[in-house]
Amino acid sequence: MTSSQSVSSPENGRNSSGDSLAHEIHNLTGVDPARCYQCGKCTAGCPMANEMAVGPHAMIRLIQLDRRDRLMRDESKWLCLTCETCTSRCPNEIDPARLIDGLREIAFRDHREKTPARIRAFHESFLNQIRMFGRMYELGLVIWYKTKSGALFDDVATAPGLITRGKLNFLPHGNQDIASIRRIFEACVEGKDHK
Ligand code: SF4
Ligand code: SF4
Repeated sequence: MTSSQSVSSPENGRNSSGDSLAHEIHNLTGVDPARCYQCGKCTAGCPMANEMAVGPHAMIRLIQLDRRDRLMRDESKWLCLTCETCTSRCPNEIDPARLIDGLREIAFRDHREKTPARIRAFHESFLNQIRMFGRMYELGLVIWYKTKSGALFDDVATAPGLITRGKLNFLPHGNQDIASIRRIFEACVEGKDHK
């Protein structure tokens, strides 16, 4: 069974294939959460730790303990900025940022109802821009996100400043190798095998 086919029970640490969360995340990210010895250096350097109910080292501990239900309920993983400070600080060469990304993928795939609606809208909007243009098209992202989230008038006052500074181009700048990007999507998102 591929990872895209597995369905996790929110009440059980194991998914329907009988895999523990640690095993599933290890397969998904290539990072072994069991190697973390809980020194806490990742959390000590995390710029978002004060906002998180569960900091990076605690998220990894919950992964080790197979607390899938607790982690899926918690919103801390969505606060991660993917700045990779934790990854650069880890003395054991673990990659907490990648583990957290794996958690988000599992949450997005198997527990969509627990994913805050605006985060879901942003995640889908972001990936759609990359899939369509091979790189970020900011105006497309804004339009897609606002349509999906219903947050039509939020931050509207910032638009003129962004346009005059050239941060919101009206036309997308496509990636010349869009075919490669689409193959990556097919392999990763749609679970097709491209050897
Ligand atoms: S810095 Fe590395 S070893 Fe220490 S708690 Fe974080 S992930 Fe674990
Ligand atoms: S990548 Fe996420 S968890 Fe790691 S330091 Fe940055 S914000 Fe914190």
